[in-house]
Amino acid sequence: MLVAGAVHTGPMSDVVRLRRPPPDFRRAVVTEVALRTPRLATITLTGPELVGFEVDEPAASLRLLLPRGGVGTSLEVPEWDGNEFRFADGARPPIRTLTPLAVDAAVGSVEVDVVLHGEGALSTWAAAQPVGDQVAVSGPGRGYEVDPDAERFLVVGDESALPAIGQLLGVLPQHAHIDVIVEVGDTAARIDLPAHPGADVRWCDLGADDAPGSAMLREVEGLSTPDGVRVWAAGEAAGVQRLRNLLSKERGLPRSQTVIRGYWKHGRTGAG
Ligand SMILES: Cc1cc2nc3c(=O)[nH]c(=O)nc-3n(C[C@H](O)[C@H](O)[C@H](O)COP(=O)(O)OP(=O)(O)OC[C@H]3O[C@@H](n4cnc5c(N)ncnc54)[C@H](O)[C@@H]3O)c2cc1C
Repeated sequence: MLVAGAVHTGPMSDVVRLRRPPPDFRRAVVTEVALRTPRLATITLTGPELVGFEVDEPAASLRLLLPRGGVGTSLEVPEWDGNEFRFADGARPPIRTLTPLAVDAAVGSVEVDVVLHGEGALSTWAAAQPVGDQVAVSGPGRGYEVDPDAERFLVVGDESALPAIGQLLGVLPQHAHIDVIVEVGDTAARIDLPAHPGADVRWCDLGADDAPGSAMLREVEGLSTPDGVRVWAAGEAAGVQRLRNLLSKERGLPRSQTVIRGYWKHGRTGAG
């Protein structure tokens, strides 16, 4: 067996690629849970190991390790096997990706907004308001590099992207015009977004039988996307792929102007 990096002359299928380990997990405790809406919980994580956890860009990411047995159970930290995290018994740990908010690297705290969408390790844990639970945080992952000179932005996302969208509205240039489109599965999911002088915010409702992403796609189809517009979009993977096709293939927007991210996969667990 060969590992990546070794000199190799045979077929590439013989190569086992070992991925670089992600940053270490930093343990933290849930010190507060507040329901922003019936569909969104703000969870505050605090702990000395979070001191120095710095996030420089908006719409970045962190990975949250949950207690294996669910709310109220103790935290078990998995091992990196060269490719992914696994528990000693081979089971996959409950690790989910979230957007870091209100980071205080000096105090050692970070907030996350969790969508209460129903079944799912993260969603059920957050809905149980797990104050006192120990968790662990790894990251941060890359965020969005804002072009300070751009005149126009299109920001699109579903409920999972709402935390990032709020953050973007706080940092996008004040002179810019921003079309914001947010798809929600329930009107109760609407929140007050930070004010921006150039923002035009449109909420669209996803019907019970609609494919995730279809309501926001319809809204974007009805909008012009002038030359130079910068696009940031995130949501369900297949839904944002259709958006990518519209913007890149049909409208011809250069990929350098668009950042489009799949945040979850319909019918799949922890697939962000
Ligand atoms: C960079 C990045 C940033 C993210 N930021 C946030 C954030 O700030 N807040 C946040 O809540 N999520 C965020 N997500 C998405 C989040 O990681 C996923 O939604 C995650 O799968 C939820 O985990 P779960 O345990 O609740 O559900 P899972 O166990 O992963 O999935 C169980 C079932 O629920 C469905 N499902 C998963 N997520 C959703 C959803 N949002 N709406 C409806 N159905 C869903 C799945 O398709 C599956 O059928 C982010 C993802 C990425 C990649």
